[in-house]
Amino acid sequence: MTDTTERFNGNFTQQTPIPQAAEDAALRVMRSGRLHRYNLLPGEDGETGALEREFAAYTGARYCLAVASGGQAMQIALRAAGVAPDETVLVNAFTLAPVPGAIAAVGARARLVDTAPDLTIDLDDLDRKTDGARVLLLSHMRGHVGDMDRLMALCDAAGITVIEDCAHTMGARWRGVPSGRHGRIGCYSTQTYKHMNSGEGGLIVTDDADVMARATLLSGSYMLHQRHPAGPGSEAYEGPMWDMPNMSARMDHLRAALLRPQLAALDANCAAWTARYRVVEDGLRGTPGLRLIERPAHEAFVGSSFQVVMDEAAPGAIADLVARCAARGVELKWFGADRPAAFTSRYDHWHFAAPDRLPGTDALLAALLDMRLPLSFSLEDCATIARILRDEATRGANGEGNAQRMTPAAE
Ligand SMILES: *Cc1c(COP(=O)(O)O)cnc(C)c1O
Repeated sequence: MTDTTERFNGNFTQQTPIPQAAEDAALRVMRSGRLHRYNLLPGEDGETGALEREFAAYTGARYCLAVASGGQAMQIALRAAGVAPDETVLVNAFTLAPVPGAIAAVGARARLVDTAPDLTIDLDDLDRKTDGARVLLLSHMRGHVGDMDRLMALCDAAGITVIEDCAHTMGARWRGVPSGRHGRIGCYSTQTYKHMNSGEGGLIVTDDADVMARATLLSGSYMLHQRHPAGPGSEAYEGPMWDMPNMSARMDHLRAALLRPQLAALDANCAAWTARYRVVEDGLRGTPGLRLIERPAHEAFVGSSFQVVMDEAAPGAIADLVARCAARGVELKWFGADRPAAFTSRYDHWHFAAPDRLPGTDALLAALLDMRLPLSFSLEDCATIARILRDEATRGANGEGNAQRMTPAAE
């Protein structure tokens, strides 16, 4: 018998505290008064430079630049890759608003690519849409990485530069290669809800000296690029320094100080997320009406959020399930609502991107449920969440939605 009174009391947006070592480092920065990244003593890299060096080493990239946000990382990457106003940029339709926002910010036009049933970019649709585009901004939305061999082969053949949005895949790997290292440029976010938390922040990695020189100048380096320990030599700046505007999107030492101890703990945290994901997945397996996303063995993903699809649900059934789960403390996000709410923005809400209809994405968004799994949840919490969702989905599948619950159940 299921316990219909079981309730979950956790908070789906509660992250874990900033580690003590980060707090101590942040205090040292504040006491120094030197918060700006270029406010350095002779011979000092500062927290920002040290973070760049450490993140470059973590991802195996030659160069790394820390910036003000994930959105800024993508805007700078697009500009550094030479995207011009009015140019067409390919992008997944299934992503969050800052991604088409970055394309709009550089004055380019988004060409949206459809979504496969496993939530990754639809490579057949991508193949059809490469004409006239030079850049793909690939968003690994909700941590689903997709077939990077086929994607890179397709883009290489079509002469398309790939910029990866790794906001949900920091710490993930595909066939052993860190996410962000398949394309020319990898972009990451350190905003509170991502895998490292500095409130706001972003990171860019690349092996391309020209791209990194341009990105550094764009980020607002005041011609102090020699103070970038994870940047290229000064010769790389000679050409770009005359062409790149200063767009003021630097990271400061305070945020970098918060991030460095979190980077040291990133792999352990990623494993802890994925352990939580597996508990939810195990708890939901075989639930009537719920399709789980099977993860390929060579995708070392980070399970910081969980997705499940109700492909066959009758109209109203999903909203009903979301409401019944919410009443028991389980906060599901549904991407099918007609108005953008919180983080559930969908492509047809982005009128500035003039989207065409995308049947795969439409079907998916109408049926997709999503929840965060913050590390503040224990494995037992995750088992409770799965039990409640399974219980309510099973009742929904048996026609015991809200209408039936008006009358007392016959025992
Ligand atoms: C959060 C997010 C971003 C951008 O990050 P910000 O740091 O908030 O600008 C980009 N892509 C996706 C998919 C995100 O979720």
